[in-house]
Amino acid sequence: MKHNKYSDLKILAFPDKIAAFQEGRITAPIYVRIKPTNRCNHGCRFCCYSDGTKRPKDRADLHLQASMHESMREQDVMPLAKAVELLNDLRDMGTKAVTFSGGGEPLLHPEIVAIMNTALANGLDLSIITNGQLLSGERAQVLAKAKWVRVSIDYTTAKQMVDSRNVADRSFDQVLDNLRNFSKIKSSDTDPGINFNVTGYNYEGLLPFAKTLKDCGVENVRFSPVYVSNFREYHEPIAPRVREQLREIQAICDDRFSVNSTYDLDSPSKSPNRAFTRCLYMQTVPVVGADLNVYACHNTAYSEHGKIGSMRDRSFKQLWFSEDAKKAFCSLNPSVVCRHECANHHKVELFNTLAHASLDNFV
Ligand code: SF4
Ligand code: SF4
Repeated sequence: MKHNKYSDLKILAFPDKIAAFQEGRITAPIYVRIKPTNRCNHGCRFCCYSDGTKRPKDRADLHLQASMHESMREQDVMPLAKAVELLNDLRDMGTKAVTFSGGGEPLLHPEIVAIMNTALANGLDLSIITNGQLLSGERAQVLAKAKWVRVSIDYTTAKQMVDSRNVADRSFDQVLDNLRNFSKIKSSDTDPGINFNVTGYNYEGLLPFAKTLKDCGVENVRFSPVYVSNFREYHEPIAPRVREQLREIQAICDDRFSVNSTYDLDSPSKSPNRAFTRCLYMQTVPVVGADLNVYACHNTAYSEHGKIGSMRDRSFKQLWFSEDAKKAFCSLNPSVVCRHECANHHKVELFNTLAHASLDNFV
């Protein structure tokens, strides 16, 4: 049976964490997302880490505004020694998994091979979200041992890629070649997938491009609406056509190739309104930035309101169990500060429900 890798219910495999929610104890995070560098080799129009002034520098007028991550500094790169210290702490604390992602392009970190090898040697499940441009050579060899590799794509043709990402024409074929080659060397339990960001510029041709990705050895494509601050107004004109194509794409799914969609304009994740006043997700899946700050989650990374603390002068473990972190865990009120996308809205609701549920035997 093929299991749903995007299920919100995975927390049920961690009864100790649920007990910690119930008892108000701080325990180690289960899974940590790490942003090793904020530098990038692409300059995307939709990059939520930029307002068009940081990246790409001369295209601010074309940039789709997400109005998040306002304190990202493009020059930040996590030093190797700090990355190793972090991964050793995660091993010692019993954390299970890590994802390397942006900020920038994680495979651009000059020591990413050593960092990913340290994660594997420490027994952490490895995964990455990358633009795919550098998914080759030694980097691909290490990622062949990862649990999953997701390439972010927002184009169906070379022209769209050039216009959207400010890259050379050959990049399109390079990314597809990298996917093709990676599917041949990856281990049998590595899931090569695509995060397809649907925009007003790329929403036609989804079916033929999904077929191309399948032929390249991709096993899953997840279609998501690009997040912009005028979300509904932006997506409403294109939504009927996107939904039509997503229905057609089901015809090419089989035991080896699946499609998921979060293309739902009514999803509470995309609304700026959060009805809850605390977030236990931040104690479960925090983010470590290239600026050596620990943040509540992916959506609050590089923002003051999401900051748990800095590990510049202390280790991750020292910070995580400090009074400063406890204060941040208690004071972050999502109904006030998370007035932007919250990709984990449903999980936050579920974790809050579990924290209050009686777990007696009368099921
Ligand atoms: S590849 Fe990712 S991090 Fe780089 S510019 Fe594009 S969206 Fe931003
Ligand atoms: S409520 Fe959502 S956006 Fe806010 S800190 Fe929690 S996971 Fe992040």
